[in-house]
Amino acid sequence: MRAMVLSSSGVGLELQEVPRPSPKPEQLLLRIHACAVCRTDLHIVDRELPNPKPSLILGHQFVATVEGAGAAARGFPIGTRVGVPWLGWADGVCKYCVSGRENLCDNARFTGYDLDGGYAEYAVADYRFCFPVPAGFDDPHAAPLLCAGLIGFRSYRLAGEARRIGFYGFGAAAHILIQVARHEGREVYAFVRPGDLEGQRIATQLGAVWAGGSDQKPPEELDAAIIFAPVGSLVPAALAAVAKGGSVVCGGIHMSDIPSFPYKLLWEERVLRSVANLTRKDGVEFLALAPKVPIQTQVQRFPLDQANAALEAVRKGHIDGSAVLTP
Ligand SMILES: [Zn+2]
Ligand SMILES: [Zn+2]
Repeated sequence: MRAMVLSSSGVGLELQEVPRPSPKPEQLLLRIHACAVCRTDLHIVDRELPNPKPSLILGHQFVATVEGAGAAARGFPIGTRVGVPWLGWADGVCKYCVSGRENLCDNARFTGYDLDGGYAEYAVADYRFCFPVPAGFDDPHAAPLLCAGLIGFRSYRLAGEARRIGFYGFGAAAHILIQVARHEGREVYAFVRPGDLEGQRIATQLGAVWAGGSDQKPPEELDAAIIFAPVGSLVPAALAAVAKGGSVVCGGIHMSDIPSFPYKLLWEERVLRSVANLTRKDGVEFLALAPKVPIQTQVQRFPLDQANAALEAVRKGHIDGSAVLTP
Protein backbone atom coordinates (compact mmCIF):
# COMPACT_ATOMS: atom_id res chain seq x y z
CA MET A 1 0.00 0.00 0.00
CA ARG A 2 1.01 3.63 -0.35
CA ALA A 3 1.79 5.50 2.85
CA MET A 4 3.33 8.81 3.85
CA VAL A 5 6.07 7.83 6.30
CA LEU A 6 7.90 10.08 8.76
CA SER A 7 11.54 9.73 7.80
CA SER A 8 13.93 9.35 10.71
CA SER A 9 16.58 11.61 9.24
CA GLY A 10 15.13 13.99 6.68
CA VAL A 11 12.43 16.59 6.90
CA GLY A 12 8.75 15.90 6.47
CA LEU A 13 7.13 12.76 5.14
CA GLU A 14 8.09 10.40 2.33
CA LEU A 15 5.75 8.55 0.01
CA GLN A 16 6.59 4.86 0.39
CA GLU A 17 5.24 1.53 -0.74
CA VAL A 18 4.91 -0.52 2.48
CA PRO A 19 3.26 -3.88 3.34
CA ARG A 20 -0.45 -3.72 4.11
CA PRO A 21 -0.81 -4.33 7.90
CA SER A 22 -2.54 -7.47 9.13
CA PRO A 23 -4.90 -7.25 12.11
CA LYS A 24 -4.03 -8.72 15.50
CA PRO A 25 -6.90 -10.54 17.30
CA GLU A 26 -8.56 -7.34 18.62
CA GLN A 27 -7.92 -5.27 15.52
CA LEU A 28 -9.88 -4.33 12.44
CA LEU A 29 -8.29 -4.06 9.01
CA LEU A 30 -9.43 -0.72 7.64
CA ARG A 31 -9.45 0.77 4.18
CA ILE A 32 -8.97 4.50 4.66
CA HIS A 33 -11.12 7.03 2.84
CA ALA A 34 -10.21 10.30 4.55
CA CYS A 35 -7.77 11.43 7.22
CA ALA A 36 -7.82 14.95 8.63
CA VAL A 37 -4.57 16.74 9.43
CA CYS A 38 -4.06 17.96 13.00
CA ARG A 39 -1.72 20.53 14.49
CA THR A 40 -0.36 17.66 16.61
CA ASP A 41 0.93 16.03 13.40
CA LEU A 42 3.09 19.11 12.89
CA HIS A 43 4.44 18.87 16.44
CA ILE A 44 5.45 15.26 15.67
CA VAL A 45 7.07 16.17 12.34
CA ASP A 46 8.91 19.04 14.04
CA ARG A 47 10.15 16.63 16.79
CA GLU A 48 8.47 18.70 19.48
CA LEU A 49 6.93 15.47 20.84
CA PRO A 50 9.43 12.81 21.92
CA ASN A 51 9.89 9.24 20.70
CA PRO A 52 7.41 8.64 17.91
CA LYS A 53 7.26 5.04 16.63
CA PRO A 54 10.09 4.40 14.11
CA SER A 55 8.94 4.72 10.46
CA LEU A 56 5.72 6.24 11.70
CA ILE A 57 2.61 6.75 9.57
CA LEU A 58 0.94 9.89 10.99
CA GLY A 59 -2.78 10.60 11.18
CA HIS A 60 -5.24 10.23 14.05
CA GLN A 61 -8.59 11.36 12.70
CA PHE A 62 -9.58 9.03 9.92
CA VAL A 63 -12.66 7.46 8.44
CA ALA A 64 -12.43 3.99 6.92
CA THR A 65 -14.43 0.89 6.11
CA VAL A 66 -13.83 -2.48 7.69
CA GLU A 67 -12.27 -4.97 5.28
CA GLY A 68 -11.19 -7.63 7.74
CA ALA A 69 -10.94 -8.37 11.45
CA GLY A 70 -8.92 -10.38 13.96
CA ALA A 71 -10.60 -13.33 15.70
CA ALA A 72 -11.49 -11.35 18.84
CA ALA A 73 -12.77 -8.15 17.15
CA ARG A 74 -16.49 -7.50 17.62
CA GLY A 75 -19.20 -5.05 16.71
CA PHE A 76 -17.99 -3.81 13.33
CA PRO A 77 -18.99 -6.17 10.50
CA ILE A 78 -17.19 -6.07 7.14
CA GLY A 79 -18.21 -2.95 5.23
CA THR A 80 -19.03 -0.87 8.34
CA ARG A 81 -17.78 2.70 8.37
CA VAL A 82 -15.63 3.53 11.40
CA GLY A 83 -13.81 6.53 12.76
CA VAL A 84 -10.41 6.17 14.40
CA PRO A 85 -9.29 8.77 16.99
CA TRP A 86 -6.06 9.69 18.77
CA LEU A 87 -6.56 7.30 21.72
CA GLY A 88 -5.66 3.98 20.08
CA TRP A 89 -5.36 1.81 23.18
CA ALA A 90 -5.46 2.05 26.98
CA ASP A 91 -4.61 -0.71 29.47
CA GLY A 92 -7.90 -0.56 31.40
CA VAL A 93 -6.21 -1.37 34.71
CA CYS A 94 -4.13 1.61 35.83
CA LYS A 95 -5.45 4.07 38.43
CA TYR A 96 -6.50 6.49 35.69
CA CYS A 97 -8.38 3.93 33.61
CA VAL A 98 -10.26 2.51 36.60
CA SER A 99 -11.36 6.01 37.65
CA GLY A 100 -12.83 6.95 34.26
CA ARG A 101 -9.78 8.87 33.09
CA GLU A 102 -8.40 6.62 30.38
CA ASN A 103 -7.26 9.78 28.56
CA LEU A 104 -4.49 9.89 31.18
CA CYS A 105 -3.65 6.15 31.06
CA ASP A 106 -0.05 5.43 32.05
CA ASN A 107 0.32 2.99 29.17
CA ALA A 108 -1.88 4.62 26.55
CA ARG A 109 -0.94 4.25 22.89
CA PHE A 110 -1.84 6.97 20.46
CA THR A 111 -2.80 6.63 16.83
CA GLY A 112 -0.38 8.22 14.39
CA TYR A 113 2.25 8.49 17.13
CA ASP A 114 2.81 5.17 18.97
CA LEU A 115 0.75 3.30 16.37
CA ASP A 116 0.58 3.77 12.63
CA GLY A 117 -2.24 6.05 11.58
CA GLY A 118 -4.25 7.28 8.64
CA TYR A 119 -1.81 8.89 6.18
CA ALA A 120 -2.03 5.66 4.15
CA GLU A 121 -4.38 3.48 2.15
CA TYR A 122 -4.89 0.94 4.96
CA ALA A 123 -4.51 0.76 8.71
CA VAL A 124 -5.33 -1.52 11.61
CA ALA A 125 -7.06 -0.31 14.78
CA ASP A 126 -8.30 -1.91 18.00
CA TYR A 127 -12.07 -2.26 17.62
CA ARG A 128 -12.66 -1.16 21.24
CA PHE A 129 -11.28 2.30 20.41
CA CYS A 130 -13.11 2.83 17.10
CA PHE A 131 -16.35 4.79 16.76
CA PRO A 132 -19.30 4.36 14.43
CA VAL A 133 -19.45 7.43 12.17
CA PRO A 134 -22.74 9.37 12.32
CA ALA A 135 -24.84 9.27 9.16
CA GLY A 136 -25.16 12.58 7.36
CA PHE A 137 -21.42 13.20 7.22
CA ASP A 138 -19.51 12.00 4.17
CA ASP A 139 -16.01 10.64 4.80
CA PRO A 140 -13.95 13.85 4.35
CA HIS A 141 -16.43 15.92 6.38
CA ALA A 142 -16.58 13.33 9.18
CA ALA A 143 -12.79 13.05 9.58
CA PRO A 144 -12.23 16.39 11.42
CA LEU A 145 -14.84 15.43 14.01
CA LEU A 146 -12.47 12.78 15.35
CA CYS A 147 -9.83 15.07 16.84
CA ALA A 148 -10.49 18.75 16.08
CA GLY A 149 -14.10 18.14 17.11
CA LEU A 150 -13.64 15.59 19.80
CA ILE A 151 -10.70 16.95 21.76
CA GLY A 152 -12.00 20.45 21.09
CA PHE A 153 -15.25 19.34 22.71
CA ARG A 154 -13.42 18.03 25.77
CA SER A 155 -11.72 21.45 26.08
CA TYR A 156 -15.05 23.19 25.63
CA ARG A 157 -16.74 21.17 28.36
CA LEU A 158 -13.87 21.74 30.78
CA ALA A 159 -14.30 25.48 30.24
CA GLY A 160 -17.53 25.14 32.25
CA GLU A 161 -20.86 26.93 31.99
CA ALA A 162 -19.46 30.05 30.37
CA ARG A 163 -21.91 32.39 28.66
CA ARG A 164 -19.13 34.44 27.04
CA ILE A 165 -16.35 32.20 25.82
CA GLY A 166 -13.12 33.20 24.05
CA PHE A 167 -11.37 31.05 21.43
CA TYR A 168 -7.69 31.85 20.95
CA GLY A 169 -6.72 30.47 17.53
CA PHE A 170 -9.44 29.98 14.98
CA GLY A 171 -8.43 26.78 13.19
CA ALA A 172 -10.10 23.41 12.74
CA ALA A 173 -11.25 22.96 16.35
CA ALA A 174 -12.68 26.48 16.72
CA HIS A 175 -14.58 26.12 13.43
CA ILE A 176 -16.41 23.15 14.93
CA LEU A 177 -16.78 24.30 18.53
CA ILE A 178 -18.26 27.67 17.66
CA GLN A 179 -21.20 25.76 16.20
CA VAL A 180 -21.66 23.80 19.43
CA ALA A 181 -21.37 26.99 21.49
CA ARG A 182 -23.98 28.82 19.41
CA HIS A 183 -26.26 25.77 19.54
CA GLU A 184 -26.09 26.11 23.32
CA GLY A 185 -26.79 29.85 23.23
CA ARG A 186 -23.33 31.04 24.16
CA GLU A 187 -21.40 34.03 22.82
CA VAL A 188 -18.06 33.33 21.15
CA TYR A 189 -15.25 35.88 21.08
CA ALA A 190 -12.65 34.92 18.45
CA PHE A 191 -8.98 35.84 18.73
CA VAL A 192 -6.89 35.37 15.59
CA ARG A 193 -3.30 36.19 14.63
CA PRO A 194 -2.85 39.98 14.84
CA GLY A 195 -3.54 41.46 11.40
CA ASP A 196 -5.36 38.36 10.08
CA LEU A 197 -8.43 40.21 8.82
CA GLU A 198 -9.52 37.21 6.75
CA GLY A 199 -9.51 35.07 9.93
CA GLN A 200 -11.64 37.71 11.68
CA ARG A 201 -14.06 37.75 8.77
CA ILE A 202 -14.43 33.94 8.83
CA ALA A 203 -15.00 33.89 12.59
CA THR A 204 -17.67 36.59 12.32
CA GLN A 205 -19.30 34.76 9.45
CA LEU A 206 -19.48 31.64 11.61
CA GLY A 207 -21.26 33.64 14.29
CA ALA A 208 -18.62 35.05 16.62
CA VAL A 209 -20.10 38.11 18.36
CA TRP A 210 -16.66 39.72 18.24
CA ALA A 211 -13.43 38.92 16.41
CA GLY A 212 -10.07 40.58 16.84
CA GLY A 213 -6.35 40.06 17.14
CA SER A 214 -4.97 37.99 20.02
CA ASP A 215 -3.18 41.16 21.14
CA GLN A 216 -6.53 42.88 21.70
CA LYS A 217 -8.79 42.94 24.73
CA PRO A 218 -12.35 41.76 24.14
CA PRO A 219 -15.10 44.38 24.58
CA GLU A 220 -16.63 42.36 27.44
CA GLU A 221 -15.08 40.31 30.22
CA LEU A 222 -15.12 36.62 29.28
CA ASP A 223 -16.40 33.84 31.52
CA ALA A 224 -13.89 31.37 30.07
CA ALA A 225 -11.37 30.99 27.27
CA ILE A 226 -9.92 28.09 25.31
CA ILE A 227 -6.44 28.41 23.82
CA PHE A 228 -6.23 26.31 20.67
CA ALA A 229 -3.06 27.95 19.32
CA PRO A 230 0.28 26.51 20.53
CA VAL A 231 1.47 29.90 21.76
CA GLY A 232 2.42 30.23 25.43
CA SER A 233 2.15 34.03 25.49
CA LEU A 234 -1.61 33.63 24.99
CA VAL A 235 -1.92 32.23 28.52
CA PRO A 236 -1.43 35.51 30.40
CA ALA A 237 -3.45 37.31 27.68
CA ALA A 238 -6.38 34.94 28.19
CA LEU A 239 -6.15 35.14 31.99
CA ALA A 240 -6.30 38.92 31.70
CA ALA A 241 -9.45 38.63 29.57
CA VAL A 242 -11.48 36.33 31.86
CA ALA A 243 -13.62 37.46 34.74
CA LYS A 244 -13.15 36.42 38.39
CA GLY A 245 -13.62 32.68 38.77
CA GLY A 246 -13.20 32.11 35.02
CA SER A 247 -11.28 29.26 33.42
CA VAL A 248 -8.58 29.25 30.79
CA VAL A 249 -8.20 25.87 29.08
CA CYS A 250 -5.16 24.98 26.99
CA GLY A 251 -6.40 22.58 24.33
CA GLY A 252 -3.18 21.59 22.57
CA ILE A 253 -0.59 18.89 23.23
CA HIS A 254 2.35 21.25 22.88
CA MET A 255 2.85 24.94 23.50
CA SER A 256 5.77 27.34 23.42
CA ASP A 257 6.93 28.38 26.90
CA ILE A 258 4.53 30.46 28.95
CA PRO A 259 6.09 33.79 29.95
CA SER A 260 6.02 34.65 33.64
CA PHE A 261 3.09 36.79 34.67
CA PRO A 262 1.91 38.61 37.80
CA TYR A 263 -0.08 36.50 40.26
CA LYS A 264 -2.95 38.99 40.10
CA LEU A 265 -3.88 37.51 36.69
CA LEU A 266 -4.61 34.17 38.36
CA TRP A 267 -5.92 35.63 41.63
CA GLU A 268 -9.65 35.75 42.34
CA GLU A 269 -10.14 32.09 41.61
CA ARG A 270 -9.28 32.07 37.96
CA VAL A 271 -8.38 28.56 36.84
CA LEU A 272 -5.70 27.56 34.34
CA ARG A 273 -5.71 23.99 33.08
CA SER A 274 -4.79 21.79 30.14
CA VAL A 275 -6.71 19.10 28.32
CA ALA A 276 -5.06 15.83 27.40
CA ASN A 277 -6.35 13.34 24.86
CA LEU A 278 -9.87 11.91 25.00
CA THR A 279 -11.90 9.20 26.63
CA ARG A 280 -14.17 6.91 24.62
CA LYS A 281 -17.06 8.45 26.54
CA ASP A 282 -16.14 11.88 25.12
CA GLY A 283 -16.24 10.37 21.64
CA VAL A 284 -19.63 8.71 22.06
CA GLU A 285 -21.14 11.90 23.49
CA PHE A 286 -19.64 14.23 20.91
CA LEU A 287 -20.51 12.06 17.90
CA ALA A 288 -24.10 11.83 19.18
CA LEU A 289 -24.25 15.63 19.50
CA ALA A 290 -22.68 16.42 16.08
CA PRO A 291 -25.75 15.59 13.93
CA LYS A 292 -28.08 17.38 16.38
CA VAL A 293 -26.32 20.76 16.09
CA PRO A 294 -25.87 19.91 13.16
CA ILE A 295 -22.14 20.55 12.84
CA GLN A 296 -20.93 21.42 9.37
CA THR A 297 -17.23 20.88 8.91
CA GLN A 298 -15.32 22.83 6.34
CA VAL A 299 -12.62 20.85 4.58
CA GLN A 300 -9.91 21.39 2.02
CA ARG A 301 -8.91 18.13 0.32
CA PHE A 302 -5.38 17.04 -0.57
CA PRO A 303 -4.31 13.81 -2.26
CA LEU A 304 -2.38 11.50 0.07
CA ASP A 305 0.96 12.21 -1.61
CA GLN A 306 0.46 15.93 -0.93
CA ALA A 307 0.55 15.44 2.87
CA ASN A 308 3.61 17.69 3.24
CA ALA A 309 1.79 20.52 1.46
CA ALA A 310 -1.25 19.98 3.68
CA LEU A 311 0.92 20.16 6.81
CA GLU A 312 2.56 23.38 5.62
CA ALA A 313 -0.83 24.92 4.88
CA VAL A 314 -1.93 24.10 8.44
CA ARG A 315 1.29 25.55 9.81
CA LYS A 316 0.77 28.82 7.96
CA GLY A 317 -2.90 29.05 8.95
CA HIS A 318 -3.96 28.89 5.29
CA ILE A 319 -6.74 26.36 5.80
CA ASP A 320 -10.29 27.56 6.40
CA GLY A 321 -11.47 24.62 8.54
CA SER A 322 -9.55 21.35 8.21
CA ALA A 323 -7.10 19.90 5.71
CA VAL A 324 -8.13 16.35 4.79
CA LEU A 325 -6.09 13.73 2.95
CA THR A 326 -7.95 11.40 0.62
CA PRO A 327 -5.98 8.38 -0.63
ZN1 LIG B 1 -5.31 15.87 16.81
ZN1 LIG C 1 -4.65 2.83 32.01
